[in-house]
Amino acid sequence: MTDPTRPRMRWYTLLWVLLLSLFIPLGILLATTALAEHEFRAVAVSLGATLLIIGLILLLLALSRRGALESLYARRGLKAGLAVTALFTASLVIPSEASLPRKDIRRFTTGTQAYDASTQPGNEIFTQIEKKQASSDKDVMTFSIFDVCVGKVSHRVSRDGEVSPNRVEVINPGILTQKLKADAKALGADVVGITELDPRFVFQKDNEGNPVRLKHRYAIVLGKGLDYKLSHPTAPLPWQSLYSSIPEEVAAVLSGRQVQTATQIPEETLNEYRETLEFFSDGGRTAVELASLIRSYGYPARAHFGRWSEVQVVPLAIMAGLGELGKNGMLVNPAFGPRGSFPIVTTDLPLIPDRQVDLGIQEFCRACAKCADACPPRAVPQGDPALVNGLLRWQVDGTKCFSYIKTNPKCMACVGACPYNKKDYFVHRLAVTAIARKSRVMNWLMLRLDNLLGYGARSVRVGQEARKTLVRVPQ
Ligand code: SF4
Ligand code: SF4
Repeated sequence: MTDPTRPRMRWYTLLWVLLLSLFIPLGILLATTALAEHEFRAVAVSLGATLLIIGLILLLLALSRRGALESLYARRGLKAGLAVTALFTASLVIPSEASLPRKDIRRFTTGTQAYDASTQPGNEIFTQIEKKQASSDKDVMTFSIFDVCVGKVSHRVSRDGEVSPNRVEVINPGILTQKLKADAKALGADVVGITELDPRFVFQKDNEGNPVRLKHRYAIVLGKGLDYKLSHPTAPLPWQSLYSSIPEEVAAVLSGRQVQTATQIPEETLNEYRETLEFFSDGGRTAVELASLIRSYGYPARAHFGRWSEVQVVPLAIMAGLGELGKNGMLVNPAFGPRGSFPIVTTDLPLIPDRQVDLGIQEFCRACAKCADACPPRAVPQGDPALVNGLLRWQVDGTKCFSYIKTNPKCMACVGACPYNKKDYFVHRLAVTAIARKSRVMNWLMLRLDNLLGYGARSVRVGQEARKTLVRVPQ
């Protein structure tokens, strides 16, 4: 029997209870996701917020039962709160952020620049290593980098090769495209996109200064995300220059050799180096194996990865629909953010290309500057994008970046700090989808939420600490 003297719950109180209840599963989902990512501040904040919401709901119910919400002010307050919430929700989903103009690479790239891989920043580092390897077999680090990073791939013989004389006739390129994407994923790619090989993005010269001859029709872009736990910078170590005076202990661990030195480097740091290098090595292997598979169908195919690429990776990956160019100069993918590697296979096999996508990432970058704040040598620009080769975009100072990572090889501050750098879990996909609405209010809210939860905080901290130690960036 219901008590006739007990006040009835009003519709607006019930609506408040229902609205607040929606945040409980979201808070629990966020807390469990953050726990899986070992982001303990995010766990504490989301659990705390969930408990607060449960408390609010119980308070509302108690006040309603006692008739404490029956006064004119309380009723007006609850209704006004609902109206404000409705307006706020609308502002989250109604697009209000203007799209960045001149995003379409196909249309706007001027393509006047002739790319010469031998002059790319950082190439000289590896050229030095190769010279050393030719002249000495005593340099442990030289061998370890080759063993771990490229040695497994046998890139020089496998990047290209003999094409089978028995050509498979392609009747349905759509089905073949789906099969090839499935094959690429089975070989290790997380995401796969296809684009026509735009000659504007083929290097004029390779990393040794030789002319590039590449006339393939398509580029298959294979995206692979680095393990989330590796996507932050390690604290700068007292290294004078990469590879030449790198502590032997690092070399020993990476190459599996036992070398006793006085320098003690944490085991965790050494393992992070090894895993990071293996990640890049694995990407190259995937491209090499896919190229070999395509050649077995009777079509030419060549693998491109790391410094053995003869094509510009980021524009091709964007054209293949794998993400957008972030302020940090990296391809930001919705699944793994900026911590991706994108080996490419070029081929003449008839395929169906994908399209460039617009996920509102660059619009979000306009509101965010976490990568620029974190970058120790300030290689990532602040502020608005500028016109570069016909496109409106941010241009990272490659010389400053490479000069810095010569002595801090696992910098990654701009990667670790990025709000898109999350594990590919449902709750993060929800945020990526929300940001794609291109609402200024949503972008503002997401950025504040990211800061509150503490994602990327370690990278920003390590990057900014490292900046303090920079007397001058070596050129
Ligand atoms: S120096 Fe570090 S943070 Fe700056 S752009 Fe290079 S990798 Fe990113
Ligand atoms: S940190 Fe922010 S500004 Fe930089 S790439 Fe990521 S989203 Fe864009």
